[in-house]
Amino acid sequence: MNERTILCGGKVCDGTGAEPAPGEVLIEAGRIAAVGDPGAFSEAAAERIDCSGKVISPGFIDAHSHGEIRKLKYPDNRSKLLQGVTTEVDGNCGESASCVPGKFGELCWRDLAGYAMLLDEHPASTNTVVLCGHNSIRRAVMGDRDDAPDARELAALRKRLEDAFAAGAAGWSTGLTYFPGKFAATEELEALAATTRGSGRVYVTHLRSEGDQLFEAVDEALRIARAGSRRIQISHLKTIFARNFHKIDRLMEMLEAARAKGYFLHADRYPYIYSSTYIRQVLPPPYDREVGLPAKMRASQALREEVAAALRGNPRDLPSAEVARLGDDLSGIAAAAGDTVERVCARLVMENPEEHVAFRCMSPDNLKRILRAPWVCAGSDATSMQLDDPGELGHPRAVGTFPRFFRAVCAGSGVGEAVRRMTSLPARIFGIPDRGTIRRGYVADLVVFDAERFDSAAGFHGEDPLPTGVDRVMVAGKTAWCAAAPERIGRFGRYLPIS
Ligand SMILES: [Zn+2]
Repeated sequence: MNERTILCGGKVCDGTGAEPAPGEVLIEAGRIAAVGDPGAFSEAAAERIDCSGKVISPGFIDAHSHGEIRKLKYPDNRSKLLQGVTTEVDGNCGESASCVPGKFGELCWRDLAGYAMLLDEHPASTNTVVLCGHNSIRRAVMGDRDDAPDARELAALRKRLEDAFAAGAAGWSTGLTYFPGKFAATEELEALAATTRGSGRVYVTHLRSEGDQLFEAVDEALRIARAGSRRIQISHLKTIFARNFHKIDRLMEMLEAARAKGYFLHADRYPYIYSSTYIRQVLPPPYDREVGLPAKMRASQALREEVAAALRGNPRDLPSAEVARLGDDLSGIAAAAGDTVERVCARLVMENPEEHVAFRCMSPDNLKRILRAPWVCAGSDATSMQLDDPGELGHPRAVGTFPRFFRAVCAGSGVGEAVRRMTSLPARIFGIPDRGTIRRGYVADLVVFDAERFDSAAGFHGEDPLPTGVDRVMVAGKTAWCAAAPERIGRFGRYLPIS
């Protein structure tokens, strides 16, 4: 069998930040055997793939993914693969289904070691790196309780983290606006962070506040990182709600200052100003701390009215909130129902608190500012989506993050820098070995794409979800997807344990 492949005729962009330059890549047994000048490799025994007019880059790494279960459901993972993504970091925002007992159809696992084995038996098209999610392990140990863990429970939480690290988790994550993470005091998180002290494992956090208490939340995150490895990744960095847009200057100063003090600090961001989260996240205090609120609302008309009234003056722009499943925004849904936006919103919370809704709550100028920072990498905050089911698609970030991030960074800083932030930078942040750079001996996860045409038109209203400009995606030297034979998707992705 021919195990040697030569990518020729294109420009090699190696992921280090260097601009693309004419060159060839020789692949052997799944790895990059050599990188050379045009015409350097002339072996007759090798398969030659013409990449004329294209950029040959390392496969993109999605720093912020939520794909552990969906990868089992849709192993093709086309929504990521077609953007050029070859590796996803799953288990963000405190949720990692792989690190607690779980089940999908016939497939069952007890912990990350079990999930990893299962994933290798049922490979997806993309590789998987896992973070151990605090919400998942806290729920497994103490349910959705709102008090502090006792000594035995804290020991059990630490044990779960240590087991996940032993099974190759790259670090751990929190989601401090979600249940039950929002009930965790800083001291609990510091005690857990201590399990990473002296290691290369990263603390990844969806901050306790991304708006009104943003600075306090950043201080808390740094305190937690200080109790651990001092390696910290801020998830989907932003300043939400118009009244907090001005905080961007001080936010960036705080993060730069932490970096200057020696924190290995980075962030990820999707290139959109809409967030996407559970509808129950709109609830103001005290409703936001009540796990059983939807059931109570179903039983009480008065409570429904009370919640609707509390939603008036919500800092999110509720009328523009897109409910993908219903194909409209809240103002449209309310108009069709002859009701107010707040009452429709309260009804959706009651019917399904985990309904995904996209809120326009960010500033386009701040987005540009964040994407300019050289320590910000691309993270979709999305899972694997079925491309042919528009009702499922939801936020366009699921299919457009990488092309749009590339366009935005490329416009200011060039192709080399845009590629670096989607490849070698996330590989360093998460400690992913032998990937993210085109270098001799590295694994041949590669993307061949047209830098002019790489883009996405995806939106909320039925726009074409398919990104343009990607020609070929290779995982471990094998073609996982090729524009010339788009339906043939190869599943060569593995679980990548981090030592
Ligand atoms: Zn999040």
